[in-house]
Amino acid sequence: MSDAPAKPQGRKFQLPEHLKVYQGVWVIVEQERGQPHSVSWELVGEARKLADKLGVEVGAVVLGAASPSLDAICAQAFGFGADVVYKVTDPCLSEYRTEPYAKVMTDVVNTYKPEIVLLGATTLGRDLAGAIATTLTTGLTADCTELDIYADNRSLAATRPTFGGTLLCTIQTLAYRPQMATVRPRVMSMPARDESRVGRVIEVTPHLTEDDFVTKVLSFIADREQNEAQLAFADVIVAGGKGLGKPENLQLCFDLAKVLGGEVGVSRPLVQAGWTTNDRQVGQTGKTVRPTLYIAAGISGAIQHRVGMEKSDLILAINTDPNAPIFDFAHQGIVGDALKILPALTAAFSKKLAVNRMAS
Ligand SMILES: Cc1cc2nc3c(=O)[nH]c(=O)nc-3n(C[C@H](O)[C@H](O)[C@H](O)COP(=O)(O)OP(=O)(O)OC[C@H]3O[C@@H](n4cnc5c(N)ncnc54)[C@H](O)[C@@H]3O)c2cc1C
Repeated sequence: MSDAPAKPQGRKFQLPEHLKVYQGVWVIVEQERGQPHSVSWELVGEARKLADKLGVEVGAVVLGAASPSLDAICAQAFGFGADVVYKVTDPCLSEYRTEPYAKVMTDVVNTYKPEIVLLGATTLGRDLAGAIATTLTTGLTADCTELDIYADNRSLAATRPTFGGTLLCTIQTLAYRPQMATVRPRVMSMPARDESRVGRVIEVTPHLTEDDFVTKVLSFIADREQNEAQLAFADVIVAGGKGLGKPENLQLCFDLAKVLGGEVGVSRPLVQAGWTTNDRQVGQTGKTVRPTLYIAAGISGAIQHRVGMEKSDLILAINTDPNAPIFDFAHQGIVGDALKILPALTAAFSKKLAVNRMAS
């Protein structure tokens, strides 16, 4: 007899008996030096929706050295929708390192057996997710844009772009548990926080030995590139594309962004042409953004750009071509020359804001 899992049969596949003990939707909460990453709360909100469909609990795993700030993160996890927090504390977990975090998470998953584990598609989350999926020998769908549950077999339907972003595919991990997925910051909406919500805390103390880990953290040096654009969290983004014609014209986006208190984003060709740095690129191979207002000037709206910004609350497109694809999904459109319209908007908003300031 072979130990190989039964061959999956798509949505008709029924979970083997021994995997039915896996229950609950977990989020591994990312925190560094006591600061939780907002993507974790977006994922707790998403986990809540998935768990409600499955009729199971939401678990949040908070790892670190014991401290009041770690306790505060546990309390926040309840506020955003967790039912139970697995508080995993050990001095070896004080700074993120792949080895101790992956070891501990592998043990915790094998002990408590969640059916779904979600992480942010951040530098830390991508590293940890890959390491755990390997040690747990399970499937991981990276960079998902949508998560759902197939009612007929209770499996996670993890949707992500494929073939260079030209198609979306939905991936299921049928014959293994847990089912794992990563999601970029701002892809899911931030859930409302209810500070009165409480839940159970399960304390896990793994008793790690520093000698077991070859990597050591000697000190923490803050990133010197502190003035990197914080696109993912900007409320207003003025984005420029190839339609701006030449690098100097990108200044028109900076001028409008300054008046609106926003950031400047760009399409990929501008980064490739060296107009600006890649921290400003929006899209599949750049940042995913979700601002209140996204102004796209001289951007055609290719699918690889669209996946990074289509969840913005209000998209205003400025394009000379009335048939540009961006007008298919923009909320408001101006057919015209961005080189004339951007300065006109900057002047109009400056005037309006000056009037508002005088009135207040
Ligand atoms: C694997 C892969 C990953 C990719 N990842 C990304 C990504 O992350 N982000 C991204 O942006 N792209 C990405 N791309 C590239 C993407 O396919 C498009 O080529 C790119 O988004 C087009 O950029 P654009 O809209 O600035 O240029 P174009 O498609 O050339 O569009 C320029 C637009 O400007 C308009 N225009 C011209 N003059 C004016 C004017 N004076 N005023 C107003 N409008 C004007 C034109 O009508 C046109 O619609 C990726 C491609 C691949 C293959």
